Amino acid sequence: MSENCLFCKITRGEIPCDKLYEDEDVLAFRDIAPQAPMHVLIIPKKHLTGPEAVGAEDERLIGKLMRVANEIAGKQGQTHYRLVCNNGAGAGQSVFHLHMHILGGRPLNWPPG
Ligand code: 5GP
Ligand code: ZN
Repeated sequence: MSENCLFCKITRGEIPCDKLYEDEDVLAFRDIAPQAPMHVLIIPKKHLTGPEAVGAEDERLIGKLMRVANEIAGKQGQTHYRLVCNNGAGAGQSVFHLHMHILGGRPLNWPPG
């Protein structure tokens, strides 16, 4: 837990969210500024600043993020979706608590901007 981290505050319930899934390890909620009809954020409850902070001890946890993300997309009726995990401001990261975006519900172009 990090005192002033936005997503840690959401995990602690100090800031409300539109929650779709929660267990002891992960939390998923709708993005406040959706970029697609389905735009969900899935985070580990453990405060990791981003992909660069993932250690060998986190490998199961990060794998779980992807498995649960797929379940959430399926429950939203989306079998075609994109998972995005930004690392660093230059890649578009604005919240420095690791999160995976689950985007779907419209055609998604490639390459992204
Ligand atoms: P990043 O740019 O770091 O990859 O993604 C951060 C995401 O968090 C953005 O898509 C942004 O809209 C979302 N976000 C920022 N603040 C909040 C908030 O208070 N609640 C929710 N649900 N999403 C937020
Ligand atoms: Zn955090």
